[in-house]
Amino acid sequence: MRFTLTVSRVLLIIALLCRPSSALPQARLKTQAEKTSQGHLDVRVNAFVDLYFFVFKLASDSGKIPDIEGLAEGVDAARGLFGAQTLARLDVDISQFERSADILPAFSRVSETTRLIANGKVQPVQTREKAIQLARALMLIEKPFREKIWPQHKTAIEQAAVRVTTKLIPKERECFAYITKNLGMEDTDYKVPVYLVAESPAPGGFTNWQGDRHGVCFVGIDNNKGSQLFETVLHESIHALDLETKGKENVLEDIRNRLKKAGVAERDPDMRNVAHTIMFIQAAETVRRFVDPTHKHYGDVAGYYAKVPVVAKIELPIWIAYLDGKISREAAISQIIEGILKTRKETSSSVKTITPARRA
Ligand SMILES: [Zn+2]
Repeated sequence: MRFTLTVSRVLLIIALLCRPSSALPQARLKTQAEKTSQGHLDVRVNAFVDLYFFVFKLASDSGKIPDIEGLAEGVDAARGLFGAQTLARLDVDISQFERSADILPAFSRVSETTRLIANGKVQPVQTREKAIQLARALMLIEKPFREKIWPQHKTAIEQAAVRVTTKLIPKERECFAYITKNLGMEDTDYKVPVYLVAESPAPGGFTNWQGDRHGVCFVGIDNNKGSQLFETVLHESIHALDLETKGKENVLEDIRNRLKKAGVAERDPDMRNVAHTIMFIQAAETVRRFVDPTHKHYGDVAGYYAKVPVVAKIELPIWIAYLDGKISREAAISQIIEGILKTRKETSSSVKTITPARRA
């Protein structure tokens, strides 16, 4: 089910609750719906996608697995794939499916073996076997899942969607304009699909892309309470916008290129963390400045900044000074790169912090 339908329903419910006793505010509702459809975000709900992330959530911890036929096998397969994004990397776009009955051909086509980070080291993993096992399990699980679990998940997702619709969507244009302007991104008319799911493995936000390189985002509402939901939606959208403008100039690309020129290797954690931390700061400050002035950075609340302490300490004051208009973008980028390179020189090991891939 595309979420546009649900959004309309949510809007209708809101409109019904708020309406004056006389007429239905049809005109207002229509304007709001049009605004939503022309915006940058396309918030969606899909029971199959929700089931997929639910299985990976169960696989990510050692809690009790609900007694549903096929679920234990599904969780075992998900564990063997080492992350919800593995299939995306193997070119399976799970957002294309509405039900498990259709997935087997795509899941069966993935590489027989793939080198993945598994149990802390890069090693070959039997991906096709595990993908087929997962597909068969999902086909068994889907019916009982839709009967027993999906109704609660759907309610929770719709409640989160109401928050997005009432708090973030009205400020969506300003937020996206602020993000693209400050990250030096070209305007794009790509509407970012964001699937809300009830339960997802940590960190609760993922952006996948397929052959055409358009980003598709997935946000777990269980991992993103309060205004964190808005930050994560924007953070993942920045990943999608980064993909849209890849190869062109944007701040993130500029930072990666400057590090590369300075001799930082492609696989060095800084190659990811330096640009990625800017995404966190930018998304958080966008929420704080346009949506909720009491918003606290995900980086502080969920401990991301503590995982990249050197990068975060350098970037936070510089990027916020830039957002406050106190320094130019060029000065901000130069100061960040200088700070990072200086610290790398001084303590070559300190910047190589262990950072599990977040929201790739
Ligand atoms: Zn990210």
